[in-house]
Amino acid sequence: MLNVVIFGGPGSGKGTQSERIAERYGLFHISTGEVLRDHIARKTDLGKLANSYISQGMLIPDKLMIKVLQHVLDTHPGETSRGVIFDGFPRTIAQAEELDRMLADRGTKISSVIGLEVPDEMLTERMILRGQQTGRADDNERTIKQRIAVYHKQTAPLKDHYTTSGRYTKINGEGTVDDIFTTICSYLDLI
Ligand code: ATP
Ligand code: MG
Repeated sequence: MLNVVIFGGPGSGKGTQSERIAERYGLFHISTGEVLRDHIARKTDLGKLANSYISQGMLIPDKLMIKVLQHVLDTHPGETSRGVIFDGFPRTIAQAEELDRMLADRGTKISSVIGLEVPDEMLTERMILRGQQTGRADDNERTIKQRIAVYHKQTAPLKDHYTTSGRYTKINGEGTVDDIFTTICSYLDLI
């Protein structure tokens, strides 16, 4: 099984690269952001709650987020058999520890963490453009600023966490989508 975590700041390209990785390696793509946006669109209770955090650029509380991920894994047993690409999870140390436990319970583990490294100014530019092109509600200047701050405070420590345990691979996330994908594949092909 190939279980890949794709890691990086908001707008670093996690979703774009994950779709391609999922297709090439036959992995099940779990984007926690997409799962939450789907709930928001359907106006479920979870969606209403998630929106109150997302619109402020905050993270959804760990306990709830872990339940959401657990539910996705439990409801797609067949599709996850070749492996999973985790996009947007974990975002905190507590989530990372829980993910290790969840995978251990299923007799598997993280194969690799791919870190897409992009400077903050480029993240901001990309998200502003995405907001204009797609109308995504949290891609506005004020929320973007908050998301980047939250990333540095709550999520970036995971880089050290995964480096210490020998699982982190840095990828320069500044090039073209094709070039970055080629770099990721040349690494994943060796695993
Ligand atoms: P991308 O690199 O794909 O552009 P992104 O950071 O712009 O990623 P998503 O991953 O789609 O966006 O997440 C959107 C929002 O959903 C986050 O700002 C956060 O509020 C919430 N969210 C998503 N995943 C988690 C998580 N694991 N824990 C807490 N909140 C989450
Ligand atoms: Mg995304």
